[in-house]
Amino acid sequence: MNKNDKASVSLMKILIISLVIIGITSIGVMASNAKLINVKIILSNGYEMTVLTAKTKVSEILEENHISLLAEENVSPKLSEEILENKTIRISTGDIEIQEKAQIENAITQEEILSSYGTIIEKLVTEQVVIPYETITKEATGEGTKQNKVIQNGKDGLKEITYKIKYQNDVEIEKIEISSKVIKEPVNKIVEVKTLQVSSRTSEERVAASNPALTASTTLAKKVQGITPTVRTLNTSAYCSCAKCCGKTNGITASGAKATAWYTVAAGKGYKIGTVIYIPALKNKPNGGWFVVQDRGGAISNSKLDVYMGSHSAALQYGRRSLEAYIYEF
Ligand SMILES: [Zn+2]
Repeated sequence: MNKNDKASVSLMKILIISLVIIGITSIGVMASNAKLINVKIILSNGYEMTVLTAKTKVSEILEENHISLLAEENVSPKLSEEILENKTIRISTGDIEIQEKAQIENAITQEEILSSYGTIIEKLVTEQVVIPYETITKEATGEGTKQNKVIQNGKDGLKEITYKIKYQNDVEIEKIEISSKVIKEPVNKIVEVKTLQVSSRTSEERVAASNPALTASTTLAKKVQGITPTVRTLNTSAYCSCAKCCGKTNGITASGAKATAWYTVAAGKGYKIGTVIYIPALKNKPNGGWFVVQDRGGAISNSKLDVYMGSHSAALQYGRRSLEAYIYEF
C-alpha cells in the first residue's frame, strides 16, 4: 500500500471496518486451535472497533485487520509491543502520551465540576428586618371631646439578623439565625380613646365603625365630620308643640330656639344641648335623618329620644320606634 496515498488509506480503513464482521467468520475457524481475545482498536478519527484475535503483538493485530499507519500517526502501545491488559490499541495523530495525559486531566476536571455541584457552601448573610410598631390604646377620662386622639405617632423599628445559610447547587437548604441586633427600637403608637362619661349611658354603647357624617350633605352632618360618633339604640317617640305634649304651646325649645320638625329632638341630661344625632332609619325624612338636641323632656331618660313633629297627629303616627342612632358630641 502506498503510504502517501492518504485518501485511499482512509477509504481503506472504512472498508476494513465494514469487513470486520465478515472477518469474524473466518477467525471463528481459528478459534479451535488458538486462544482468542477481544481487542479494541481506536482509530485516529475516533472510530472504535473491536476485533477478535489470537495475536498479542500490536503490529500483528493491525496487520491482521489490514490497518496501516499514516506517516503522522502514532500507535499505543507501540507496534513492537504486546497489547496491554486493557486490550486497547489506540491510533492517533500527534503525541499519544500527551493526549492520554490530557484526557486524564480532562476527566479529573469534569469530576471536580461534578463534585463541586454537590458541594455545600455556607454563607453568612445579614438581613435588615422592619420591626412593626404596636398601637396602644389608652382610655381617657374626663369631659371633653369624644374623638379618638393620637397622642404619639408610631414608628417602625429596624433589626439586623445574621443568618448562616447553607446552599447546595445554589439552592438554599438551611437557614439558621445566629444573631440579631436591634438597630432602631420601634416607637409605639398611642391612641387616647375617649369614653362617654355619663354612667347611665355607658351600656349598649359602642364606637361607630364608620362615620356617616363623611358622606352626608346636610348642614348638621358637615358640622360634625371630624367627630367619631358613638352608636346606641334609642327608644324614639315623637312630640309636637301642643299642650298635651309640652304643657305649653309656644314651640320654643330648652335651647331657646324654635323647634323645627324632623330636626329638633328632645333628649335627657346625658346629652348636651347641641349634640348631633343621626338616625339611619329616618334618612328619607326631611332633614335626611340628622337631628340636633335642642330640647329637654322631664320624663326623657338617656336611652330615649323625642323627635319634634309639626302636628300632634304626626307625632301620634310616629308612635314608638327602637332605632340605632349615631351620636356626635362636642
Ligand atoms: Zn302634641
